[in-house]
Amino acid sequence: MSMFADIPVEVGVIYEGERIRWQDAQLEFGGPRVEHKFELVRVRRLDEVEDGKITVIGPDIKDLEKKSYPLGIYIEVAGKDLDEEIEGVIERRIHEYVNYIEGVMHLNQRYDIWIRVSKRSFEKGLNSFTYIGKVLQRLFKSELPIIEKIQITFITDPEKVKEKFKEAMEVYERRDARARGLKDEEVDAFYGCTLCQSFAPTHVCIITPQRYSNCGAISWFDGRAAARIDPKGPIFRIEKGECIDPLRGEYTGVNQVVKMKSGGEIQRVWLYSAFGYPHTSCGCFEAVAFYIPEVDGFGIVHRGFTENTPIGLSFSTIADSTAGGRQVDGFHGISIEYMRSPKFLQADGGWERVVWVPSTVLEKVKDFVPKGLADKIATEKDAKTVDELKQFLIAKGHPVVKRWEAKAAEEAVKAAVEEAKLPTPAVTAQIQAPAAGLTVPAGVGGFRLSLKNVKIHAKKVRIIRAKEG
Ligand code: SF4
Repeated sequence: MSMFADIPVEVGVIYEGERIRWQDAQLEFGGPRVEHKFELVRVRRLDEVEDGKITVIGPDIKDLEKKSYPLGIYIEVAGKDLDEEIEGVIERRIHEYVNYIEGVMHLNQRYDIWIRVSKRSFEKGLNSFTYIGKVLQRLFKSELPIIEKIQITFITDPEKVKEKFKEAMEVYERRDARARGLKDEEVDAFYGCTLCQSFAPTHVCIITPQRYSNCGAISWFDGRAAARIDPKGPIFRIEKGECIDPLRGEYTGVNQVVKMKSGGEIQRVWLYSAFGYPHTSCGCFEAVAFYIPEVDGFGIVHRGFTENTPIGLSFSTIADSTAGGRQVDGFHGISIEYMRSPKFLQADGGWERVVWVPSTVLEKVKDFVPKGLADKIATEKDAKTVDELKQFLIAKGHPVVKRWEAKAAEEAVKAAVEEAKLPTPAVTAQIQAPAAGLTVPAGVGGFRLSLKNVKIHAKKVRIIRAKEG
């Protein structure tokens, strides 16, 4: 039964997680085919907000044919206990509440939103943003009583969306910048979020000052504010406990909470690594870091990138293989803001291990990449295949090339040691022949041969047993 008699479709938690395929959609807003889209919450003074007001600027759902359109959802709230700090937290709930509406799918957040309305719900009468606005207003006021007044503007006029998009980007940047500078070591508590468990049942976001939430919408400050206004809500405080591993970022308090909130599925988390026990990946991460074994480095691809990566896979295929609340070795859902953190993949080598990033993302974060390194990281303009990537990295002298050399040398040593332990007849002959009278003790330990990236041409090789004492 519907929660609201005046809404033509049902509204309830059971619709959260509903997927709408393009063939079943009436139309869509935002998504990868649309450049300008956003959702933004602003806190206003009480006298600035007209409670219950819903405005649609541009054509409404019923006026549009089956295509993808720009959209801005601009929500203004007021309440005597509200302040700017809470805007990000209220904004993140849009995702949850829109998904409660039967036949409406909302994905992602901020400048990445993607909303589809199903044909079925449209035929039932869901043909205007006014209905969506009403549902949002009612849910916001009942779930977060701190909101006393709320007015919502839906913008579909492409020029107007573009105009407001600029404001939205400035607000997001201001919010993100606030958390920069604070270190994980300087706080007693982190925050957790389980909002995405409707899509990824074992996912728990751990939000620290230096590891932004996967969706890029909740900072440590947002987490703190959310836990304060809605202590029983999906965002909660986590006592850090003891730091077991500062390099990988493992904390006893985090392990305990993740274990409990994931129903025992996830036992440990390394906050700053994509290997071993990486942070779980839900489905609304902004980007994925993926390990490329051929170059021993990471590629990063974001949601808006529509081409294939050098490994021949698109964002959605890579995202599918890491999403769902799992810990997948070498595949790691991340936010763009985390790429600005000094702890970004710190245990794996950080930026020195990143070899490929789409140019739009690299542009956004390049001020946070160690000096002189940004030009050595390939983009889609430099490399479209792994071979091209290899050539680029060698030509630019990317630090990862040194890792290859070190690895090759290590393998040469291993091979040499193996040979020394169990020399094949051919090897023994090569050594013995020029060194007449010398016998290499086959299969016996006691000497070590270290060859690092060298070529040796020798007329004679003498292996002399060291005198004891
Ligand atoms: S990605 Fe994380 S922080 Fe963002 S809504 Fe999902 S669980 Fe919460």
